[in-house]
Amino acid sequence: MRHVLRTALLSATLLGIAALPAAVLAQSPSADEPQRQLGAHAHGAGKLGIAIEGRTVEIELEAPGSDIVGFEHSAKTAEQKKAVSQARALLAKPMALFKLPEAAGCKVASAKVKLVGGSHAHSHGHSHGNTKATSAKPKEAETHSEFHAEYRLTCAKPDQIRSVELEYFKTFPRAESLEVSLIGAKGQAKQKATRDKPRIEIGGGS
Ligand SMILES: [Zn+2]
Repeated sequence: MRHVLRTALLSATLLGIAALPAAVLAQSPSADEPQRQLGAHAHGAGKLGIAIEGRTVEIELEAPGSDIVGFEHSAKTAEQKKAVSQARALLAKPMALFKLPEAAGCKVASAKVKLVGGSHAHSHGHSHGNTKATSAKPKEAETHSEFHAEYRLTCAKPDQIRSVELEYFKTFPRAESLEVSLIGAKGQAKQKATRDKPRIEIGGGS
C-alpha cells in the first residue's frame, strides 16, 4: 500500500514531479494517488548494494524505518528508543545479516549505521520498481525515515563468495524484499531477494 499523503504534502510532491520530463509525468496515476516512487520508499522494500573488488566487499543497505523498527517517526517513548538502539546494534553486525560462505574467510573491517530522515521531505532519489509494500494503514503518513548502513569486509578468498544468505529477513520480520545491486568482476547485475527467497546468487568466480 502506498503512503497516504496529506493535501499539503501532496502539492509539495506534485511540485517536485512538475520539474520532471513529461514521460515521467504521464505515469503519475492521479492526484489522489501521488507518484511515490519519486524520492520515496515503499514500506517492506529495502535496497542492498554489494560490490566485490579484489578482497574487499562493500555492502550498503537502505531500509525503511518501518521495516526495521516498525515506525518512522522519531522515537518518543522509552520503548521506541530501545527499539532504535537495538536495531542499530543488529545492523552493526553485517555478518549476522548477510551470511557469506565460511570458505570466503570474510571479516568486518568497518560498519556504519545511521538513521536518516524523520520528515516527509525525502530527497534520496530513490526509485523503486516495486512499490507493493505490505504496511498497514500508515499512521504516521507524513514521517518517513530510513536506516542506512555501510559495511566493508575483507575476504581472504573472495572467489568463494557464490551466494549470500539473507538472515536479514529473519532479523527484521517486517522486511519483505530487497532490491539487490551487485557489482563484481562480471559487471553489474540486479536481483530481487524476498522473504521467500532470501538468497543472492553471485555468479561463480572461477
Ligand atoms: Zn516510509
